[in-house]
Order: sequence, then C-alpha cells, then structure tokens
Amino acid sequence: MKTVSSLLNDEWYERYKRISKLNIRSSIYDTTNRCNLRCKGCFFFSSGEDKAAREETDIHKWERFIDKETERGVNLAILIGGEPTLYLDRVEAFYQRLPTFCASNGLIKVPRDRFPDMMIGLSLWGDENDEKLLRGKDAFSISSKNYEGDPHTYYLYTITPKQIGKTDRIVRKIRDAGLKIHMQLLSNDEGVDGFSWEPKELSEIRREMDEMLEQYPETVISSKYYHKIITTGEMLGRRFGWMECPSVTEQFDNRNPRPKRLIHFIRWASDLKTMHRCCTSNTRDCSTCKDGAAHMSWVMVNKRAHMRSTEDLQNWIEVYEMFAKLYQFIPW
Ligand code: SF4
Ligand code: SF4
Repeated sequence: MKTVSSLLNDEWYERYKRISKLNIRSSIYDTTNRCNLRCKGCFFFSSGEDKAAREETDIHKWERFIDKETERGVNLAILIGGEPTLYLDRVEAFYQRLPTFCASNGLIKVPRDRFPDMMIGLSLWGDENDEKLLRGKDAFSISSKNYEGDPHTYYLYTITPKQIGKTDRIVRKIRDAGLKIHMQLLSNDEGVDGFSWEPKELSEIRREMDEMLEQYPETVISSKYYHKIITTGEMLGRRFGWMECPSVTEQFDNRNPRPKRLIHFIRWASDLKTMHRCCTSNTRDCSTCKDGAAHMSWVMVNKRAHMRSTEDLQNWIEVYEMFAKLYQFIPW
C-alpha cells in the first residue's frame, strides 16, 4: 500500500505535516439578511434565502448560539449574508469566541482596533464595467481604499466570461493596493445574458488563471490543480455535482452512498435555527455550480484518492495549503 511518506520527499513531507495537524471544522453563518448592494447573480437574494428566516436581533442569543457551535467542534466560522459588516456586534460575538472569516463587499471598513487580525475576504466581480453592470456600483474603488495594505484581507475575485483577457489588469491593481487575490468563477444564478460559461471560455480562463499565478506568485493565492478542477468540474475522473459535493449541511445529507464530506458542516440562517442546504443556494443546479470553496473542499476531503501518485498527492497538498492560507491557518 502507498503511504504518504513513500510518495513524498523530505520537503513535501514537511509541508504535508504542517497541514495534516490542522483538522479544520468549518460552518457558515448568515450574519444578516440585509445588504448594502444587490448584485445580479447573488445566490443569497436570487434564491430567496434572505426571506427564509427572520433575523435574530438579540445579541445575547447570538452569543449563546456561538458558544454552542464551539462546543459542537466548529473551529472556523465563515460569516456571510447579506453583508456582515452591517452588524459588527454579531461579527464581534464570533470573533471573540473562535477563528472567524468575514466575507464583505468592502463598502464599510471593519475597524482594525476592534478586529485586529480577522481575515476579511472582499468580493470583486470583475472590472469597473462588470461591477457597475452586475452590482450597480464600482465597489472596488471604495473597498481598495478601505483596505489598502491590510495584511489580513484578500480579494475574492469572481471571474465572469467577460473577464477573459482582462485579469492581468485586475491582479496588478490588487497587487498595487498591497493586497492578495484568490479567484473563483461566476455561476450566473440569475442567467444574466452573456455571463454563462461556454466550454471554450473555461479552457481559456484556465490558461489565464495559470498565467496569473506564474506571473504574480506573491499576490495570487491559488494552485494550478484548483484551476483545473474548477474549470473542468472533474477530479480524478469524477464529476462535481450533488453526489460529490462536500459542502452540504449534515442534516440535509440524504445521499446514498454518502460521499466524503465536511465533518458536521452546517450553513445556518440568521434566525440561528433554520439551516440551508449547502454553502451556496438551495435553488442552484448543482451541475452548474462553480463555487470555489466547494471545489476546494472537494479536493481536501478526498486525500486518500490522491494517494495514487506523488503528483496527485502534491496537488492535494497545494490545494489544502491554499485553503489554509485563505482562512489564516498558515501564513500567506
Ligand atoms: S454584496 Fe454579496 S451579499 Fe450583497 S448582494 Fe452582492 S453578492 Fe449578495
Ligand atoms: S449548489 Fe454547489 S455547493 Fe450547493 S450542493 Fe450543489 S454543488 Fe454543492
């Protein structure tokens, strides 16, 4: 039988040991149903998840709930919404209790005296024109001023088909703002004309993502294997979709056979009682899902399958390291 140590040289084995200790247990929390933007293609609003539950407003109930989540073994809280920064008291309740990642559109600056090292992922939906079209505003011009040079912030760049040939300019803008960038692909949940992916476009953007990583390794947090997985939807000959997705709320997981999955993962609505099906929307067609975190996690939970060759295991390590960097378990 192949073992990890027989597949890796000393350097890779050290890298493996560093991540194998982490034992990350994440869950996702809708911090609020409100947002100060309304982006076309936002899975939260387009699927009606903002109406699925009445928002809990009592901060003490949030605090008690988070304490129970830590008892449940969660060691990474991923705050989404809606826009979490509209309710900094809720964000603080998480931050004081467990490692916390806050997704944000960046229009409101999180005060660093209150949240000195909280990782913030700023959403970016393309260049100025795309952002104006899809989000009604050039959010980057505001968010980049708010977070310039911040060591605990990166841009989560959702690439659309319209971005082919333009990513270099975006990456340079982010590098010049002293920030990092991670890339994923738009799933186009609201069917905006011209924003759905064709196979040829997916192979073009894969090549471009690889080039960005090669050219800007200090700025781009990614791996070529991740680019391959997210653009092809395939891993080791298996196809991504409902029967493979790792990011399904445990209580909704009626799959048989049950695939490898995130342990005890739940996506909670803002009433702290309702659960959503998965890390994106209840209504998304899994066969079109391009969610970056779900694809990353898909690789991560399938370590054993990657132990068939040195190259496969190294690919697995790179994806795991990428995730660990993005959620601040290891340095950039
Ligand atoms: S900023 Fe985020 S939560 Fe708000 S509408 Fe846009 S995608 Fe949705
Ligand atoms: S929509 Fe995406 S994240 Fe949700 S269950 Fe389907 S494949 Fe998984």
